Amino acid sequence: MELVWNQYCFKKTDLQAEKSTSTDVENDETAEENKKLCCTFCKTHVTDVAAGISINGQHTHTFSNPAGYAYTINCYESAPGCLNIGEGTHQFTWFKGYEWQIAICHACKEQLGWFFSNGQQFYALIADYISLEK
Ligand SMILES: [Zn+2]
Repeated sequence: MELVWNQYCFKKTDLQAEKSTSTDVENDETAEENKKLCCTFCKTHVTDVAAGISINGQHTHTFSNPAGYAYTINCYESAPGCLNIGEGTHQFTWFKGYEWQIAICHACKEQLGWFFSNGQQFYALIADYISLEK
């Protein structure tokens, strides 16, 4: 009886391992989070909710630029719909140690936020300019 039980346990574990590595299951699990975020101006797909990351412990940050404009930005590990323009600079950087470039929508060229890098890189996109695909 003990032997049968052990075999049963082994088989069950084996089955679960197989299931969790199947791509079908992974797709199901990410479907909820895999919502698209689009440029508010032209509706082009820019990034995904699932690409959201925390920088310095927060996904959302609020900063003011030297001209006094306040921005609410969200951080993403990638934004395939953005183009980075200009030379990277550390001037007035919002994230210590990171240089930044302006990030624009590749389709309509409106500025959507900034690209930061210091070896690690991420996008900080202006919350008002990025909306969930409807
Ligand atoms: Zn656009």
